[in-house]
Amino acid sequence: MHILVVEDEKRLAALLRRVLSEERHVVDVANDGLAGHDLATSGTYDLVILDLMLPGMDGVEICRQMRQVGVETPVLMLTARGAVEDRVAGLKTGADDYLVKPFAMEELLARVEALLRRRAKGLEAGQQLQVADLTLDLVRHEAKRGDRVIELTAKEFALLEYLMRNAGQVLSRTQIIDHVWRYDLDALSNVVDIYIHYLRDKVDRNHQRPLIKTVRGVGYKIEP
Ligand code: CA
Repeated sequence: MHILVVEDEKRLAALLRRVLSEERHVVDVANDGLAGHDLATSGTYDLVILDLMLPGMDGVEICRQMRQVGVETPVLMLTARGAVEDRVAGLKTGADDYLVKPFAMEELLARVEALLRRRAKGLEAGQQLQVADLTLDLVRHEAKRGDRVIELTAKEFALLEYLMRNAGQVLSRTQIIDHVWRYDLDALSNVVDIYIHYLRDKVDRNHQRPLIKTVRGVGYKIEP
């Protein structure tokens, strides 16, 4: 699994990297809040281990922003303080579990495995991707904005799924073509723009808050 560790205590960060790597996880480390925020909100990790007190941006704020842009990656929050209000603050912003420093590595690994198992089960169950009031049911192959069912073609569905799996992250036309039109060598160069236009028409038309955004000169993203 791909795990992000956001921890400014370098020795602890190095220890976590080593221990988790030994469990065959792929580990990225960020040593401050801003770098951690950028990586955590990319939505590309299976788990984020997040220290509460960080330079730049604290763990609670990072977690809050992850959830705000629709990133559902499980978060294990670490804190040096055991105060009840900290736990409540952390869990309210969307952290999934909590560990008070100092902790035994066995305890951390047990929590990590539990969160990864829960996530795997969730993904197996098909589950839904969600950005604001837009949901994508991957089993029933159904898109909804609020209560309204949106009829999508297979390609439109694949494009929307790719955007939603990477919610908050800008995707270039090349990235989108590589993922959605992988084996279709005849795909036109403007195929992405055409399909984004179709999707906007179905997803965002007549809505006050459009979700699909153009980032000029770069590509597209979806976010609340
Ligand atoms: Ca810290």
